Amino acid sequence: MASISLRHIYKAYPRGKIEKKKEQEQNISPFAVRDFNLEIEDGEFVVLVGPSGCGKSTTLRMIAGLEDISGGELYIDDILSNNIDASKRNIAMVFQNYALYPHMTSYGNMSYGLKLRKIAKPVLDKEGNPVYGRDEEAIKELKKELKKATTAEQASEIKAKITELENKCDTPKMKLVHYSKEEIDEKVQRAAEVLDIKHLLDRKPNEMSGGQRQRVALGRALVRDPKVFLLDEPLSNLDAKLRASMRNEIVKLHERVKTTFVYVTHDQIEAMTMGDRIVVMKDGLIQQVGAPSEIYDNPLNLFVAGFIGTPQMNFFDVDFAAGVKEVTIKLPNGKKVEYPLKDFNEMFEQYIDGNIKSLVLGIRGEHIAISDSGVEAVVTFVEILGNTTNVLCKLKDSDVEFSISVQERSTLVQGDEIHIGFLPKNIHLFDKETGETVYKYENIVRNYHE
Ligand code: ADP
Ligand code: MG
Repeated sequence: MASISLRHIYKAYPRGKIEKKKEQEQNISPFAVRDFNLEIEDGEFVVLVGPSGCGKSTTLRMIAGLEDISGGELYIDDILSNNIDASKRNIAMVFQNYALYPHMTSYGNMSYGLKLRKIAKPVLDKEGNPVYGRDEEAIKELKKELKKATTAEQASEIKAKITELENKCDTPKMKLVHYSKEEIDEKVQRAAEVLDIKHLLDRKPNEMSGGQRQRVALGRALVRDPKVFLLDEPLSNLDAKLRASMRNEIVKLHERVKTTFVYVTHDQIEAMTMGDRIVVMKDGLIQQVGAPSEIYDNPLNLFVAGFIGTPQMNFFDVDFAAGVKEVTIKLPNGKKVEYPLKDFNEMFEQYIDGNIKSLVLGIRGEHIAISDSGVEAVVTFVEILGNTTNVLCKLKDSDVEFSISVQERSTLVQGDEIHIGFLPKNIHLFDKETGETVYKYENIVRNYHE
């Protein structure tokens, strides 16, 4: 179990001259990860999500110690860990290609790492009692400190402590030994039980399905009793149905072992369904951190709004103008809709100063109502998904497309003319230049990069 604190973490991979020139010319950031700040609580399940190349794996690999950190501080359990060797971090990592040893059984794959590993155990005498000695470690540390002492007073204080420790013999002597066969067996059996793969322990990877192999790969990580589990797109190789069931398996596994999990995926559905908290990334930068529903309901910018949620949120370029008591929103087909000004009082003042503002209006498909009056639209396609129907439309007299999610089976067909409307509370508004949401959400941490 461990907490993880990432403070202003940066990563730049080594690059050649040509790449550096291109970066300068096109104003591309040299960093794969930039100013990454995140506090992960002990036992939390955090998901890093974002499009391919946004720096998810890099971040995970820095936590694991597989990649150098270019700037910033990484704390694991409050210990500065930037330079702690990967093998000493007690972190387990599971990848997309589970990379099991093909010639070994599941049992062999799961126990292999344990056989190589050494742990500190107390030295016992003939009667089986622990042997005590001086605390050599502490003495060594104090001797180092002594060298750094600047005043005679300090030095004599440290010397006194050393003498005290040298005369004490109350520290159990330890030695590094391998796990016994029984200990290994116990760990493998326990992990197999948790993952429900006891019946697969004698099988080799080519005798198992993708899902079973992935479970063995999880087992191989689990037997190590890691403080932290890092998972990098572990389900990407599985088919859709298996992915859905393995999603649940991993969430259940987390509930059972209660260890800190950091899970990386480009799949926003995985992120939404698995994480206690989601970290949305783009171009090496955190865009938003929050609980899945918080991010879905209150995306902080256009990117997050478009990335989280299927079908995607609909976007319209609008002219927004606040009057004395009302606001007028002009849709891209020229149609104007009015709302009471009081429904927009959470907007930043500069957007309701009376001038016309070019904004992007976002509205999710499930928040568009089909009504008798309102904005006119034409149905262009109807997707029946079983439990819901996606009605694809165009705003009348324009090419602007959007989709409506209808819960019940819709009777609409292509070519139907309809009227739509949406409530102010479901409308998202974004600055066209910056893409930022123009609302004040007091409860949301807006700036990760301060
Ligand atoms: P993600 O996991 O989100 O798809 P990565 O963390 O793998 O993204 O990559 C982030 C960026 O760093 C990408 O632009 C990628 O090309 C670059 N990158 C990743 N690994 C290396 C590497 N070993 N050397 C150089 N550049 C790399
Ligand atoms: Mg990756």
